[in-house]
Amino acid sequence: MKLYSTNNKDLRVSFQDAVFHSLPQDKGLYMPEQIPTLDPAFIRNIQQYSLQEIAFHVAHAVIGDAIPAVDLKVIIADAINFDAPVKFLDAEQAVLELFHGPSYAFKDFGARFMSRVMGYFSKQGDQLLDVLVATSGDTGGAVALGFLGVEGTRVTILYPKGKVSKVQEEQLTTNGQNIRALEVDGTFDDCQALVKRAFNDEELNSSLRLTSANSINIARLIPQTFYYFWAYAQLKSQGADQVVFTVPSGNFGNIGAGLLAYKMGLPVKHFVAGTNVNDTVPRFLQDGQYVPKPSVQTLANAMDVGDPSNWVRIQDLFDQDVDAIRAVVSSYTYNDEETKQGMEELFERYHYVACPHTAIAYLAAKQYRKEHDGNYASVFLSTAHPCKFPDAISAEAFQAIQLPEGASALAEKERLVTEIEVDYEAFKAYLLANK
Ligand SMILES: *Cc1c(COP(=O)(O)O)cnc(C)c1O
Repeated sequence: MKLYSTNNKDLRVSFQDAVFHSLPQDKGLYMPEQIPTLDPAFIRNIQQYSLQEIAFHVAHAVIGDAIPAVDLKVIIADAINFDAPVKFLDAEQAVLELFHGPSYAFKDFGARFMSRVMGYFSKQGDQLLDVLVATSGDTGGAVALGFLGVEGTRVTILYPKGKVSKVQEEQLTTNGQNIRALEVDGTFDDCQALVKRAFNDEELNSSLRLTSANSINIARLIPQTFYYFWAYAQLKSQGADQVVFTVPSGNFGNIGAGLLAYKMGLPVKHFVAGTNVNDTVPRFLQDGQYVPKPSVQTLANAMDVGDPSNWVRIQDLFDQDVDAIRAVVSSYTYNDEETKQGMEELFERYHYVACPHTAIAYLAAKQYRKEHDGNYASVFLSTAHPCKFPDAISAEAFQAIQLPEGASALAEKERLVTEIEVDYEAFKAYLLANK
């Protein structure tokens, strides 16, 4: 497998290079040189396969010989070791639950696969791989639990003090082993700025082997295609083969993976993106002008993104043709008040407790159905377990949450955390002193 940069299609790098250096120097994004078309017989019979078998088939088609089949199988067995069930709420409306992994969010798919691929490519005797990651909550937990115990790697997570939920903080700070948590007395943007500066610091890079666990890493995108195929397989075995997926979107990596699956031959009728008031993409789909804005804080804070980093990938998939994108993707935007109403409606109508991101997808799926009636299964993606967002959820719904196994044990564990100020020199000194 070779990859090009969206800014320079003549540039070609190996999968391994793209994994360790998330971003090309030209600031584009890596894309597979060739998007494989899956064997139609595989799609036709897809309901016969398990999630892991599907994941292997898809990954092998994309990655080719960059990882030998036997090794890829081991990576997938280890990384994709939890389910993503489709559950019908009524005859027409289903939800694809992506929160049954260790951090209770869909980011587990990307983070677990990427961590094992990085571990695989890190040869014995290589210098320790230092992963730096800034998080507003969900990314950090998925990366921490994804890399936990992966040999040859160490993770340093920066998170903003007081701005992550209890479960999120526990997932960041109770790991030990090869995971370190830094609580920064500042905002998420401050955390991100510290990490960015570290990546550009030559002195630091000469003594540490730094890499990012950024959401734009190609090894996070590929495994996110798996569950679209798996959802389709589940629907097909129930007799439905027309599907519209609705995806709560921030950086547009999740829906980008869905569109990649579509380009590989997954029969999807349409995609719908639901966003919070950070509506750069919905505005683009309306008027064809891509005008990023500074992000605004919302209840669905994992989608507070004013300039979605994966959008250029989607444009690349559709050869920069806005009308071609519009033919496959619709989008709708919701404010916090509407998001709350969406959560309430899900609870009252279906006794389903959803996180705010998931509620936005529900609202968008409903709106699309209203405008496009027809005989199809509407599936919205549930990206996180509601227990991660207690402040956004009504007391009544919160009472009804069934905590995932392990969530209460987390609270008992010792917290291991180092507090730092927003001070680059102090951060750098910490990294150098704790090599
Ligand atoms: C990260 C995240 C999203 C947004 O996904 P993108 O791939 O950035 O569009 C949505 N919901 C939850 C719960 C998340 O953690």
